[in-house]
Amino acid sequence: MRVPIIAGNWKLHLNPEETVEFVKAVADKLPAANKVESLICAPAVDLDALRKAAKGTNLRVGAENAYFETEGAFTGETSAKVLREMGIQYCIIGHSERRGYFHETDEDINKKAKTLLANQVTPIICCGESLETREAGKQAEWVVGQIKAALKDLTAEQVGSLVIAYEPIWAIGTGKTASSDQAEEMCKTIRETVKDLYNEQTAENVRIQYGGSVKPANVKELMAKPNIDGGLVGGASLVPESYLALVNFKD
Ligand code: 13P
Repeated sequence: MRVPIIAGNWKLHLNPEETVEFVKAVADKLPAANKVESLICAPAVDLDALRKAAKGTNLRVGAENAYFETEGAFTGETSAKVLREMGIQYCIIGHSERRGYFHETDEDINKKAKTLLANQVTPIICCGESLETREAGKQAEWVVGQIKAALKDLTAEQVGSLVIAYEPIWAIGTGKTASSDQAEEMCKTIRETVKDLYNEQTAENVRIQYGGSVKPANVKELMAKPNIDGGLVGGASLVPESYLALVNFKD
């Protein structure tokens, strides 16, 4: 059985002091990690405070990005090797904001996935279509293309261990959630793509999240869908009460 994973993506919000306050507020109210994995992916400048505060709790810690080289003259980048050394378990890659504002390509994302896996950090690979692509009815084709490119040359074992996040760009930060049926349909398509590329077991193992205006009010309905194994949550993950309502969706 896949353990659901609810991940906050803090984007460019909160400082180290606020991070520690957040962890104090949620630490003893999180579900058991074998029931629901509770994860916060934070800005690089907050990660040290986050991992120290989260030590000994059920909160898992992730980064929002890492470069595909682990050291060298790459000013401003984050090293997957250092993330591992810090005990950071997850890293988001290929978020639509990074693809859009920072011009990341499918090829970059594939290289980042390989580097993270080589450094025992689990990638959360984001994919998702624009409103224009959805209105043209080409969303499945688009997302399948992103997934094939992101997973290029990865082994079945590697793919079974990672997380894919389907985040339609039109639903991010807009308050406009994809319906649970739209989200399920695409998560199912992604799982079928993994099955075609690898095998049934790999498709059964890979966890697929939905992201885009996930809130306490809609999390239960989304999580009830058979191919949705979690959420990648922006705005609603920044406040302890709301984050706790999300990770405790089973109660
Ligand atoms: P919101 O939950 O704020 O729509 O953001 C979604 C997202 O981009 C998570 O990565």
